Amino acid sequence: RPVIGVLALQGDVREHLAALAEAGAAAVTVRRPEELAAVDGLVVPGGESTVISKLAELFGLLEPLRERVRAGMPVYGTCAGMILLADRIADPRSGQQSIGGIDMTVRRNAFGRQNESFEAVLDVTGVVGDPVVGVFIRAPLAESVGEGVEVLARHEGAVVAVRQGNALATAFHPELTGDSRVHALFTEMVRERRTAGAL
Ligand code: GLN
Repeated sequence: RPVIGVLALQGDVREHLAALAEAGAAAVTVRRPEELAAVDGLVVPGGESTVISKLAELFGLLEPLRERVRAGMPVYGTCAGMILLADRIADPRSGQQSIGGIDMTVRRNAFGRQNESFEAVLDVTGVVGDPVVGVFIRAPLAESVGEGVEVLARHEGAVVAVRQGNALATAFHPELTGDSRVHALFTEMVRERRTAGAL
């Protein structure tokens, strides 16, 4: 089984661990550089991107995270995690850092006040069967994406799921619905990368 970490500094870590286990991965928490070095792939959870990036700096994880993502480690970010995987943040809090990895510009809290939290039914490329129920909580959207980025889902025109190489991101939270198909898609990406590495 692939070993998939969940960056456990802040946010909905437990829900991701459960969804990954359901998807057939060995799920572990990651708080320290040594723990990061031991995983085959990593989930960056939802929460508050400014807090997660501050803590990642404090824990000495920001540079190691950037290096592993650059080196091709599969990574999946939900909501705040999507913001952290963006190469550019349209409206960063002052000093807000990102890990990067996906050639896109995200806007935080992009769906407006009346719409701080909602559910939407989405077709997500790569997820077979029924549409995915997306839970959006003060969610970001991708305002623009580079040529190498595949758009996997849109909500009312807004880009809410993307993939570039081994990096996957969703503005919504599949870990909150008991539907582990997006985590299964990610686990498959991790498996493929492992197989490729073993050749
Ligand atoms: N609005 C949060 C941020 O900017 C993200 C919210 C979430 O992860 N549910 O980081």
